[in-house]
Formats: sequence, structure tokens, C-alpha cells
Amino acid sequence: MAINILVVDDSAVMRSMIKKTIHNSGVEVGEIHEAANGQEGLEVLDREWLDILFIDVNMPVMDGMEMLERVRKKSETRDMPILIVSTESNHERIEIINQQNAGFVHKPFTPEVLREKILSALGVLEGH
Ligand SMILES: [Mg+2]
Repeated sequence: MAINILVVDDSAVMRSMIKKTIHNSGVEVGEIHEAANGQEGLEVLDREWLDILFIDVNMPVMDGMEMLERVRKKSETRDMPILIVSTESNHERIEIINQQNAGFVHKPFTPEVLREKILSALGVLEGH
């Protein structure tokens, strides 16, 4: 099954890097959509059929933690697979990410790590 992905990051360079790594991870990819902040991300989420979200933490307009909270509050996306991507492993934040049933990926990452994270995020949903 090809998965449709949304990459939310305020850095265009980082979005390209994430997309490239996803393609190199061996996961069968359908469409990859992009957004530059949480607000844009929510708009894409409203109009596209997506299987998993990659969300950066530090972004202008709406940061990744607020986007995560909003996505979880909507009944249609309450169980959607989400990976939070960050350069910082802030312990408190990771705790919140766990509570919101999302995964965490430390930047930078290898295609192998990414593949594992994607499959585990998709598997969490299947296990419900
Ligand atoms: Mg950022």
C-alpha cells in the first residue's frame, strides 16, 4: 500500500531532506504534500487524503505542538499516525508527544530509522 504523506516544516531545505529520506527508506510512497507551518498543515489535512504526518516543532504562525494538539482534538484525525520531528530531545516535550499518541524522530535521521518509525506509527493504528 502506497502511503500519502504530509511534511510540515518551516525550512524548505529540511522538507526536501525529509522527502528524500522518505523516498530512500524503502517505504512505498504515494503523494507527499508540504506545508510551512501548523496552520498550513491543518489546511492541507482538511483537503487531502493522508496516511501519516511529519511535523516539525519550531515553526512560525503555528508550531508543531499546537498542530498536534489540534489534530488530536478532531474526531476524524484522533488516531492518525503522526511523527514529530525535532533536533531537540526535550524530555517534557517527548512526554507530551507520547501522551498524544505520536512518535518522535530526532533530526537528522537515516532512511533505516525513518522506515522503522513510519512502520511503527502505522502499526500503532492497526493494533487498535
Ligand atoms: Mg523549524
